[in-house]
Amino acid sequence: MRITLYRRHTKTCSHQADKAYQRCDCPVWFEANVIGRRWNTDTETWVQTANESMQSRWSSKEKNWRSAEHKARQLEQQLDDILTGKSRPDVKTVQQAVELFLTSKRNENLAADTLYRHEQIMRALAEFCDRQGILLIKDVTLAHLTMWQSQWTLKAPQARRSRQEKVRNFFKYCLANGMIATNPAIPDHWKSVKIKFSDQNIRALESQEYEKILSSIEKTKMTASRIGRRRECSSTTLFRLGWAKNF
Ligand SMILES: [Zn+2]
Repeated sequence: MRITLYRRHTKTCSHQADKAYQRCDCPVWFEANVIGRRWNTDTETWVQTANESMQSRWSSKEKNWRSAEHKARQLEQQLDDILTGKSRPDVKTVQQAVELFLTSKRNENLAADTLYRHEQIMRALAEFCDRQGILLIKDVTLAHLTMWQSQWTLKAPQARRSRQEKVRNFFKYCLANGMIATNPAIPDHWKSVKIKFSDQNIRALESQEYEKILSSIEKTKMTASRIGRRRECSSTTLFRLGWAKNF
């Protein structure tokens, strides 16, 4: 199998007549006739297709002709290794799986801090796997996840649950993309962090916080002139809000 390169010129390019023109900056595309495989540009793998010769075209994601040519030779080699049984196409290292997942998350237009949290958690998972000597994503088991979870320094159950959800999200992605055959992170196996009512975000106010709230209430709501009266009103308000319990 050989991948041919061609240039998809932009409207403004003056070399439109020559598809093999090497020196402009327009995107370089690939074209190939492959039997039984297709290059998936999202997961960057040769995925299986019907066993017939199919002409396919895809972007090399390069503008430089030589870089694209180099990439084409690599892909040809990869496919050759798959077809001769030298390598398994869907086998990904933990690092590769994490990178692919994060790229897909970046394409989701998430809020910056959500994306940051995904990156943080994925980095922690990759580091854990590294320490355990786990190279391939398919080798991560439920026992690993449980062990990793026991090392989390996060205390708040909500934060632990949220982290767990992100990890589940990742393994779901790996499963959907053929990188793992079974998902070790589904709730049936990896039990969800329980959140008790008493764990919820209720805490006594620090005295400074209390003073701040009190003074803002006094400023906006209280008109009574006697301090004692104001305190009483403010405390009642806080009581209603459930904040004054420990005061
Ligand atoms: Zn051009």
